[in-house]
Amino acid sequence: MKVFLNPGHSPNGIPDPGAKNVETGLRECDVAKNIAGLVEKYLVAAGVNVVGNIQSDNLFYDSDYPQPCVCAEANASGADIFVSIHCNAFDCEAHGTETYAYAPGGEGEKLAGCINDQIVKSLGTLDRGVKYRPDYIVLKHTDMTAVLVETAFIDSDVDEPLLSAKQDDFARAIARGITDYENL
Ligand SMILES: [Zn+2]
Repeated sequence: MKVFLNPGHSPNGIPDPGAKNVETGLRECDVAKNIAGLVEKYLVAAGVNVVGNIQSDNLFYDSDYPQPCVCAEANASGADIFVSIHCNAFDCEAHGTETYAYAPGGEGEKLAGCINDQIVKSLGTLDRGVKYRPDYIVLKHTDMTAVLVETAFIDSDVDEPLLSAKQDDFARAIARGITDYENL
């Protein structure tokens, strides 16, 4: 199985760091990048072929950004699955893990469930479940099974310490979710 990883938002946070914890300064772009690097390491160690790991503002042929186009690179990579890694933010109260698929009933829902279950089980985050976003660019314009994981809420006092200190655990959980899906 070939896997393509996409840590969310801008490389180095410019211009878009994603969500941010205003008290600790923890930035989504940095957490996502680090977790994706560790996911790649654990997948490779498990014998899974990682064919891409790209953080870019150019999601779908956006000429404003002179960076690789995430969806085009993924579609050209021969990947069987695509995993975009993010942190959530809402009102400083909401917390937990949720994972998005394009639509119910397909392979994306299965993969999203495997990844969501592993994160909830190993980090103890609130299980917000699998949700559907046919409008998300990386779910809509990728040709393979694609999911977007919202690991936890970076603006939450409950989740921020996990995102700050347990990035390795998030990465191991995501990698296990991917191998669980492969073994379904
Ligand atoms: Zn994000």
